[in-house]
Amino acid sequence: MKRIAIKNWPKLPNDLIPIAIDRNSVDYVQASSNCFITGKPKLILMARTENEAAASIKYASRVRKETGIDVPFSFRSGGHGISMASVNNDGIILDISKLKKVEIVDINKGLVKVQAGAVWGDVAEFLNRFHLVISSGDFGDTGVGGLSTSGGIGLLVRSFGLTIDHILAAKVITADGEIRSVDKDNEPDLFWAIRGGSSQIGLVTELLFQADKIEPENQYQCPITVQNIDFIIDDLESFVHKWGKWIDEAPLKITSNLMFTSFDNNQILVKMNNFWVGMPNQIANDAFKKASKLAIVKKYDQKVVDYGKAC
Ligand SMILES: Cc1cc2nc3c(=O)[nH]c(=O)nc-3n(C[C@H](O)[C@H](O)[C@H](O)COP(=O)(O)OP(=O)(O)OC[C@H]3O[C@@H](n4cnc5c(N)ncnc54)[C@H](O)[C@@H]3O)c2cc1C
Repeated sequence: MKRIAIKNWPKLPNDLIPIAIDRNSVDYVQASSNCFITGKPKLILMARTENEAAASIKYASRVRKETGIDVPFSFRSGGHGISMASVNNDGIILDISKLKKVEIVDINKGLVKVQAGAVWGDVAEFLNRFHLVISSGDFGDTGVGGLSTSGGIGLLVRSFGLTIDHILAAKVITADGEIRSVDKDNEPDLFWAIRGGSSQIGLVTELLFQADKIEPENQYQCPITVQNIDFIIDDLESFVHKWGKWIDEAPLKITSNLMFTSFDNNQILVKMNNFWVGMPNQIANDAFKKASKLAIVKKYDQKVVDYGKAC
């Protein structure tokens, strides 16, 4: 059995040793990183089950109590947190990326259970064949755990709402190491708090979502029509006002993203991505046409993709 001993910390329970990585482990650097930075934690625990996650939280609590030091303690799911709080220096990282099961609970009702260590690209790909989607982020590598506990805004948001609007129930491990099942009737305050409270409340390990249905058509299981336009502009304020008026008047089945790059000559490249839920029809085409008249078009592209492959 490998030896893990951290100076002045209580002995690691035997059942956590197989999932522990310390500074002497070969995989230490990789396990200390998220997608932005590499931390210098003293210990990383790679939980494979909810019970291991609960035992890890209890151990972290003992470390703080017995050392009298507020040892940093981070949760990590997908490692794409922009706050970078999912890694730390001199503390413990609890990683749940191995808890990544996605399952259909009731196909007719669109009920889907997702473990928080899954990433959204895998969830979208799995649900595609069932013509189901969960409104989440635009980037497939972001984690279910971090995004679902902080809001979740993406290319379906105007059609279906935020990710947290779709959570019906969850399992959350609180600081005492208890695994709690929460929903609107059971521990309703805790259920309310995890939908926006991120890691301040507890470790969410599993979520029950109400997914939305997209009608299949032709070869597409979950068709999304994507319009990509590059504009070159020189008056940002005026462009944003025009875009705001356009999206305000556009049908809710369209969600729009803008990205800006400025050049030395005061010109700005605007990359606009518009997403219509379903195959294009007259209403979609009218809205897309209006979008293409917002400024001088440099590049234009329109295509249909499956949602499961769009992010
Ligand atoms: C390239 C990129 C694209 C993005 N696109 C979008 C987007 O389109 N829409 C959007 O809404 N956001 C987007 N984000 C932001 C991202 O969704 C959030 O930063 C989210 O917190 C990342 O979740 P994670 O599990 O990958 O992160 P992690 O780094 O693992 O965690 C981030 C934070 O969430 C906490 N946390 C993680 N897992 C849990 C859990 N299971 N229970 C409780 N707390 C937990 C962590 O403690 C940490 O504070 C994007 C980020 C990146 C880097």
